[in-house]
Amino acid sequence: MGHLLEINHLQVSFKTYGGEVQAVRDVSFHVKHGETIAIVGESGCGKSVTAKTIMKLLPQQAEIKQGEILLNGDNLVDKKEKEMLGIRGNDIGMIFQDPMTSLNPTSKVGYQIAEGLMKHKNINKKAAIDQAVHMLETVGIPQPDKRINQYPHEFSGGMRQRVMIAIALACQPKLLIADEPTTALDVTIQAQILKLMKQLQEQMDTSIILITHDLGVVAEMCDRVVVMYAGQVVESGSVREIFSSPSHPYTESLLKSVPRLDMDRTKKLKPIIGTPPDLLDPPKGCSFFPRCEKAMRVCKDHSPSLDFIRGDQHAACWLHHPMRKEVENAK
Ligand code: SF4
Ligand code: MG
Repeated sequence: MGHLLEINHLQVSFKTYGGEVQAVRDVSFHVKHGETIAIVGESGCGKSVTAKTIMKLLPQQAEIKQGEILLNGDNLVDKKEKEMLGIRGNDIGMIFQDPMTSLNPTSKVGYQIAEGLMKHKNINKKAAIDQAVHMLETVGIPQPDKRINQYPHEFSGGMRQRVMIAIALACQPKLLIADEPTTALDVTIQAQILKLMKQLQEQMDTSIILITHDLGVVAEMCDRVVVMYAGQVVESGSVREIFSSPSHPYTESLLKSVPRLDMDRTKKLKPIIGTPPDLLDPPKGCSFFPRCEKAMRVCKDHSPSLDFIRGDQHAACWLHHPMRKEVENAK
């Protein structure tokens, strides 16, 4: 069986007054059935744009320039909005950072859960509302039969995120995309929400793409990691490979720059100096070149390709590239 999701050479640009911003540049990765992958990287690296592209929820000024998004072999890039309406919420569930902006403030939460079920599963309102009560119970909301008649503002932040999870998983999608789902919540609530997502994933055999900047969450929840920098994938691999032997200098800096539970506490955190490149005019060579402590001559003008390192691990860095000497000498 093939992968549940396969993204090949995806390229997404935004038209701005200043010109074309190349937000996603030749991104490829896959998600296997039932696994959780993390997409990590600094803000503006293209993680959220990639997620929105998978759901075809890009703003008007954005354009998919190239590439394919295969969901069970079916290319979403070619789908019309009408077809996407049948896929979103049904095959792909979504959870965003701020549930208040994604929930409808004027509609009862029970109805918001039932809506997707009526649309995608062809069941009547009564059956859908019954199912909504069951979903609220599943996500751990007490007195679900009363709570379905309440509005989003009557729920706390953590409870609202549980409602979002209930909506996202009501139709038992094959893929759940969660973009910083717990960033707006307290640490204890965060842990509860993540645990809930993990439990439901096991019950429903859903795959998850988790977009986060929290490497502690990645270590705990995910099977594989995709590291993005300046609109590109610079490294990918299993959580163990990435955490124990990162191959790309950016991944290394990322691991050193944020606190993690599994970290040696005697070591100091080290911020990454400098800023990412301007994607209106991306550099010709390696995007990380100006910030990289290990940069070499070849890196400035030649962009490294994503190459096999070991096991599941791939990295785009000349340090590991078999052709490094040839490219350098060809100048
Ligand atoms: Fe650093 Fe060169 Fe690797 Fe880029 S290709 S990350 S500049 S060593
Ligand atoms: Mg984002």
